[in-house]
Amino acid sequence: MDLLTPTIPTPLQRLRNADIENAGVQLYVKRDDLIHPTVSGNKWRKLKYNLLEAQNRQAKAILTFGGSYSNHLYATAAAGNALGIKTIGIVRGLELEGRENSTLQFCRSQGMELHFITREEYRQRHSDAYLRHISEQFDGPCLIPEGGTTPLALKGVAEMVGEVKEQLGKMPDFIATAAGTGGTAAGILAAGANVLAFSALKGGDFLAGDIQNLLPEQSGNLTLLTDYHFGGYARWDKELLTFMQDFRTQYGIQLEQVYTAKMFYGLFDLIKTGYFKRNTSIVAVHTGGLQGLITV
Ligand SMILES: *Cc1c(COP(=O)(O)O)cnc(C)c1O
Repeated sequence: MDLLTPTIPTPLQRLRNADIENAGVQLYVKRDDLIHPTVSGNKWRKLKYNLLEAQNRQAKAILTFGGSYSNHLYATAAAGNALGIKTIGIVRGLELEGRENSTLQFCRSQGMELHFITREEYRQRHSDAYLRHISEQFDGPCLIPEGGTTPLALKGVAEMVGEVKEQLGKMPDFIATAAGTGGTAAGILAAGANVLAFSALKGGDFLAGDIQNLLPEQSGNLTLLTDYHFGGYARWDKELLTFMQDFRTQYGIQLEQVYTAKMFYGLFDLIKTGYFKRNTSIVAVHTGGLQGLITV
């Protein structure tokens, strides 16, 4: 399967269990994990118009930022390779140089040039002065911020919401998503849906402001859930892993422990504890990320 011919629309699948029946809600999962084998889920949605823009501008290269387990770096490397555009990845953490994990090895195999910087320097990744410096250093590449989260990304995510509306025959009461940078949540809000965003990081309250900043004018309502982080970004415990295993046994759907398992855990908890009114319809987005799955 080619990167440019993804599986779209992705399936919408109903989930049932005793707690869901008791609460009288309708729960569906939007299978964006099935979009593409390497560029999975929301990274494909977010990159689509960014890449088209880079192509239209005949950019010599795409430069972007990420941590060592970044699904976004992975996706950008694969996409650049498929489109014949050179990619440069700026990686957080000098100490990783020469000790590359499978994500970074994959990026290199796709032709991505990797540059490692200190965590201190990485913190400047949104500063205009720093980006000018980086742009000069790398000869004017097309710059895409961490997570691929740009105004153009919102347009790609909105297309996913369009599919949901068509498949369900209406806009659901809520669309749930995991949040890292908040770009996916912003795209869903911009398309007019109410969003339940589950922070994958500890102290995720800042996401409300970041999401707001991405929105030209907010049409949906945002509910930010910040208590289901399991200790912080890329942290998890046995309870979460057990939940993932049970989920796979029951529904035949694989989750990963960085984003999607935390969202479903949180959502099931809210359903069980009576958070939703009866007859509420909820679509949870499986944002993918399975190529980064750490099997434990
Ligand atoms: C990157 C990622 C997210 C977070 O998306 P944001 O738009 O950065 O909030 C969620 N789920 C998966 C699987 C991801 O790879």
